Amino acid sequence: IILRLCMAGKADLHMHTIHSDGTLTTRELMERARRVGLTTISITDHDNSSAIDEALVLSDELGVEVISGMELSATLGDHDIHLLGYFFDHTQRDLLDYLAFYRRERIKRAERIVGKLNELKIPLTIESVLEQAGNGSVGRPHIANALLEEGLTETYHEAFFKYIGFGRPAYEKKYQVTPREAIELIASAGGISFIAHPGNTFDEKVLVELIQQGVDGIEVIHPSHSPERVAHYKGIANEYFLLTSGGSDFHGGRKNDVEVFGKYYISEEEVEVMRRRL
Ligand code: AMP
Ligand code: ZN
Ligand code: FE
Ligand code: FE
Repeated sequence: IILRLCMAGKADLHMHTIHSDGTLTTRELMERARRVGLTTISITDHDNSSAIDEALVLSDELGVEVISGMELSATLGDHDIHLLGYFFDHTQRDLLDYLAFYRRERIKRAERIVGKLNELKIPLTIESVLEQAGNGSVGRPHIANALLEEGLTETYHEAFFKYIGFGRPAYEKKYQVTPREAIELIASAGGISFIAHPGNTFDEKVLVELIQQGVDGIEVIHPSHSPERVAHYKGIANEYFLLTSGGSDFHGGRKNDVEVFGKYYISEEEVEVMRRRL
């Protein structure tokens, strides 16, 4: 019974701060996590682990359990793949070197995108993009916001479908990392990796290929997954003996996502199953 009581709770293992494309600081996000009743969280900034130290310190103060986390970008053919890494040692040298390298590559890519926009006579500057990103890893959401703020597009989404979305004239690939490389990076730092929001982006063939490349689990619970999709991915996880995870992918309201926080979560038991797999 005591075990049961300890286990009650909600774990949200997918959310972003200003260290990538979220709008909240680590403290703001964690205070909000406590308010909405989350007992365990993982902050999963894109290709960036720099929120983790602060989150671990705040964990005691706020009484919210913190698991190290990150959302790594990878590519499989034409598909942008997101992999969620958990429970890794966020101070590991190789991991930090890789992230520093990738961060520089992201800045170079932002410069290439701005170059293409300028060729299209869109007078965006790299400075305004970097300002949007602050200290976080630079991504297309920052470019979209900079375009919006400078009055160069009407809406955030227009930036993607007119210019920077896949196949659009100012699209630029990210530095290419295979899912296997990302999985190995997480594994060598003692962590486990999950396929993020499979329902969002790709078909079954890609999913099976990612499983073959060695992921430990699938993110089953996600705002983009219907109940049918959730059941479907649970079935696949069972079939391949994979772990299951989930979360809100909360960005602090940037994508009108305020209502998801506290509503998409997994049980503490599921987190315990992950710990046993480490
Ligand atoms: P990046 O990692 O820089 O390629 O940025 C990827 C992020 O851009 C995704 O996580 C989405 O938040 C956003 N994004 C990509 N494509 C679109 C799109 N067509 N419309 C809106 N947002 C998008
Ligand atoms: Zn994001
Ligand atoms: Fe993602
Ligand atoms: Fe995310």
